[in-house]
Amino acid sequence: MIEGRLTTLIAAEEIAARIEVLGQEIREHYGDKTIVLVAVMRGSFMFLADLARAISGSVEIGFLGVSSYKGTSSTGNVRITHDLGDEIAGAHVLLVEDIVDTGLTISFIRELLEVRKPASLQLVTFLDKPVNRTVDIPVEFVGFSVPDHFVVGYGLDLDQRYRNLPYLAIYHPGGEEK
Ligand code: 5GP
Repeated sequence: MIEGRLTTLIAAEEIAARIEVLGQEIREHYGDKTIVLVAVMRGSFMFLADLARAISGSVEIGFLGVSSYKGTSSTGNVRITHDLGDEIAGAHVLLVEDIVDTGLTISFIRELLEVRKPASLQLVTFLDKPVNRTVDIPVEFVGFSVPDHFVVGYGLDLDQRYRNLPYLAIYHPGGEEK
């Protein structure tokens, strides 16, 4: 099998510095309220771990599993694979995503959770790829905006590979892997 090639897009140090600032922005926005971070599995696990440590004060964590992505293009087919264990009625929920591309996944999740009547429902995404957006959804907090490339690392995968990279890379199909 011909391997793809990886080039660094965002270095680990740059990610750490941005998340520190993002954590402070989020805490300022919510004041002294308890923030329920709901991580969308699995791509956001590394971002969640770093972001949670960058937010001071009262924070709770939940996990939502969805499956929406096959190979290197969005399908728009979203399915719940793991639901939250706790009720979110009256809670300040902050969804934690790895990347918003077309916006279909997050618009599905927002609709699903709105029905459960949280006090507020907002979104923080590690990456935003605005060029492919097909649904108009609010994205309250963004780590980095990225160009239209398929990216891997820092939690993001290609067929379950590369999630463990501590930096973000562009995946170039074909050619030798670095
Ligand atoms: P959307 O529904 O917004 O089109 O896609 C969101 C999901 O697609 C993300 O949670 C992620 O799993 C996947 N995705 C979109 N773009 C990329 C990308 O460049 N790299 C990886 N690894 N996943 C992506």
